[in-house]
Amino acid sequence: MFQGLQLDPTVLPDSVHALRREVREFVEAELQASEASDDYLRNSDFNTGTSVEFTKKLAAKGWVGMTWPKAYGGGDRSFLERYVVTEEILAAGAPVSAHWIADRQSGPLFLKFGSEAQKQFYLPKIIKAECFFSIGMSEPDSGSDLASIKTNAKKVDGGWLLNGSKIWTSGAHMNHYMITLVRTEPQSDNRHAGLSQFIVDLSDTNVTISSIQNLSGDRGFNQVFFDDVFIPDEAVVGEPGNGWQQVMSELGYERSGPERFLSAFRVLVEFIRLVESNPSEAQLTLIGKLTAHLVTLRRMSISVAAMLESGKLPTVESALVKDLGNSYERLVPELIRQAAPMQKTERFVDTLNQCILHAPAFTLRGGTREILRGVIARGLGLR
Ligand SMILES: Cc1cc2nc3c(=O)[nH]c(=O)nc-3n(C[C@H](O)[C@H](O)[C@H](O)COP(=O)(O)OP(=O)(O)OC[C@H]3O[C@@H](n4cnc5c(N)ncnc54)[C@H](O)[C@@H]3O)c2cc1C
Repeated sequence: MFQGLQLDPTVLPDSVHALRREVREFVEAELQASEASDDYLRNSDFNTGTSVEFTKKLAAKGWVGMTWPKAYGGGDRSFLERYVVTEEILAAGAPVSAHWIADRQSGPLFLKFGSEAQKQFYLPKIIKAECFFSIGMSEPDSGSDLASIKTNAKKVDGGWLLNGSKIWTSGAHMNHYMITLVRTEPQSDNRHAGLSQFIVDLSDTNVTISSIQNLSGDRGFNQVFFDDVFIPDEAVVGEPGNGWQQVMSELGYERSGPERFLSAFRVLVEFIRLVESNPSEAQLTLIGKLTAHLVTLRRMSISVAAMLESGKLPTVESALVKDLGNSYERLVPELIRQAAPMQKTERFVDTLNQCILHAPAFTLRGGTREILRGVIARGLGLR
């Protein structure tokens, strides 16, 4: 496990350090500009902010689809370079939601399983920030137990007729397409057989999108209904019936990145700002502990990026990073809330309050703690 561990960040190639500086300067400039105008960057912490304008600027820099082949307009750059870009934009609290899913997992899914026509059609559009994707896995009665999904499709001439519903679908109200896991054969003894992945055009008139409000008052996720939606054969990703294997491969990308432990990073930054002129012993100790924990998580996450780079499928390692990372980001606002001084800045209170309202989602989205621990236990041969 964790082969190719990059324990010492100084072993990263020079190009990565130069890139980090470039991204940091770019985001800082954007942050300053936005503070002077509509404030879109500062309001976008906890991986939830969306700004198509910001995504387009990142795309123009070549930082969307940056690891994908040049043949499709990608940058052909390394996973470690992508890691640096994602880390810098998340640490700054930049609004990344528009392109996040397409860049992180839909594009890689097409590259691995998609047809040549799908690669040529979708990848250049994602890279230019012209098309955004949602993930359609969870259903009202199927979340952790994904193999029990009921959304189904029947074969018709030239395609499939899709019926059913997906829930908690992040960004479906803003995105163009959703990669949707669908039952295309009745459930058999092999629960993982007979599932397929479809590209659903979210502007289809037989698709209904109904927003759901979360605890913080945002409306970032939705329930999506399919009523006889026609899916042409060309919009099936990979082989019909191979959906389970494809989804498992996709989750490797979904679970290991810095978004799994940086969601509460802005709270730590604002806490340090708040106490830096006169910290107590206890506050210094807390900052030290949280920073040490962060550095360890980061090294584990970088090692997963190195494994992806070498073509491995780090399912167990990704689950481990997500479980430890999510536990950490739940702890940060709680410990900082207890350690904060009586006198607080408005900015600190704002950041902390928003984080507390978003924090319950950290350990749910992308797979719950209990499910990840099952993956880890099975991977280690403990179950
Ligand atoms: C902010 C946010 C965004 C999301 N975005 C998306 C999205 O874009 N697309 C999408 O498809 N989904 C999305 N989800 C859904 C998410 O993936 C599910 O909420 C998650 O997988 C859990 O499923 P569930 O809500 O049905 O809970 P359930 O599966 O019903 O679980 C309820 C509880 O039971 C526990 N549990 C379940 N099974 C077991 C078991 N076998 N052993 C031990 N404990 C168990 C769980 O850990 C959990 O604590 C999002 C969720 C959130 C919070």
